Amino acid sequence: MLRFYNTLTSQVEQFQPLDPRRVRVYTCGPTVYDFAHIGNFRSFVFQDILRRTLRARGYEVFQVMNITDVDDRTIENSTAAGMSLRDYTEKFARAFLQDMQLLSLEKPEKIVRATEHIDAMVALVQRLMEKGFAYRSDGSVYFRIAKFPTYGRLSKIDLSGIKTGARVDVQEYDKSDPRDFALWKAAKPGEPSWETPLGPGRPGWHIECSAMAMKYLGESFDIHTGGVDLVFPHHENEIAQSEAATGKLFVRLWLHCEHLLVEGERMAKSKGNFYTLRDLLARGHKPSAIRYLLASVPRRKQLNFTFDGLHQATQSVERLRNFRLRLRTEKFPGGTSAAVAKRIAEAGQAFDAALDDDLNTAEALAAVFDLLRDLNAAMDRGEFHQGDRAAVEQLLERYNGIFAVLAEDDYQKLAAVKDQMDVPVPVPVGADALSDAEVERLLGDRRQARARRDFARADEIRQELFDRGIIVEDTKDGVRWKRK
Ligand code: AMP
Ligand code: ZN
Repeated sequence: MLRFYNTLTSQVEQFQPLDPRRVRVYTCGPTVYDFAHIGNFRSFVFQDILRRTLRARGYEVFQVMNITDVDDRTIENSTAAGMSLRDYTEKFARAFLQDMQLLSLEKPEKIVRATEHIDAMVALVQRLMEKGFAYRSDGSVYFRIAKFPTYGRLSKIDLSGIKTGARVDVQEYDKSDPRDFALWKAAKPGEPSWETPLGPGRPGWHIECSAMAMKYLGESFDIHTGGVDLVFPHHENEIAQSEAATGKLFVRLWLHCEHLLVEGERMAKSKGNFYTLRDLLARGHKPSAIRYLLASVPRRKQLNFTFDGLHQATQSVERLRNFRLRLRTEKFPGGTSAAVAKRIAEAGQAFDAALDDDLNTAEALAAVFDLLRDLNAAMDRGEFHQGDRAAVEQLLERYNGIFAVLAEDDYQKLAAVKDQMDVPVPVPVGADALSDAEVERLLGDRRQARARRDFARADEIRQELFDRGIIVEDTKDGVRWKRK
């Protein structure tokens, strides 16, 4: 039974969606002002693990992710680049989707752009004005926090200390209370704006998510996700806007992901420890290893990114893939072993129990690696049988349904994306590597060369494979190969 820690209630709760079969999820997506960094991807890997786990438990998932393509940062950067907001954000939205593919992140059922939902945002602001929760000032519209007594319920923040006039934001001096936040921002010269019944202007960031979430998921839905930095004020404001308008509970379960740190520090361009996904790929790291590392720490713990950790993640992925190769290629004695079957079943239970416990990925991985160690030992001792293979394959499939790192497709994925890139993306050596079928074909040629005792040609083929990232091993059970 799935259990989650809910930021809203500060408690671990049994998971129960409104509709027992279909789970509705909203995920705060990227602000497309630049390439997403690995901290962002930590939160996106978390929500991917979440949706995969929900499906593994038999739920149908309907997830909406927004793309914030209008806010202060996108406007500032597009202006600096001398590009229209649309062209500028399009480039980074496309890059984000490519990065998602590289990291094997499933596509949410709906990906929606803020600029395509201005009408829904305006309608929500109007509704709030009609109910007295919002007021106009100098062409902008603000949410009146004093009218919403439960403000602060999610973040447990106490705003009573902030008094009118105590600290007035110079940019928003026209608010009647400094705690109030903008729902609609009056047009400014040189900034993109929309002609609407509210007057010319653009939406505030918070209203974007409330309007799009409710449009596609209804006024009350199951799960809302994001990084911890979004708890306040973004999600607090989403709750205020939505619940003030509808009078209903907006979201039942709030799941937040802790931050990624780099070598123990906050990631910042000024510190030189700031990495996008592309920066790591350029250094030759594989997408699967990056995904593995980002997935390996449970979401409520900070993840300290180090290159040492990334190296270990690479080795862990390698161990998993090699184990599966051994499982598939080695000849084991016939029959089955009751002890092995029991051990596999235990590992499967431990794996599920770990994920049920608020997606404890670290323990889920430990369950799999403990099993691998025991099965490798059983294989070495000749105690693993042909008939035990199917159960392990099944467990590995279950594992891969969540962690998605077993496929040997890093180089193919990189090569595929490289051709679509409109920005130069460095691809590591071997990215033009062979598909599995091409490797098999060359190995077939090599087998034939050896059969006719043309060892020079056989060695040549082996070298060619090596140069293209494939290691060939001749074992007593035949030829095995793996990618470097
Ligand atoms: P943004 O593109 O800034 O709107 O952020 C996209 C997502 O990444 C949000 O859910 C943020 O909370 C999350 N995020 C930002 N920085 C980090 C970080 N260092 N670690 C984990 N998640 C982050
Ligand atoms: Zn949001």
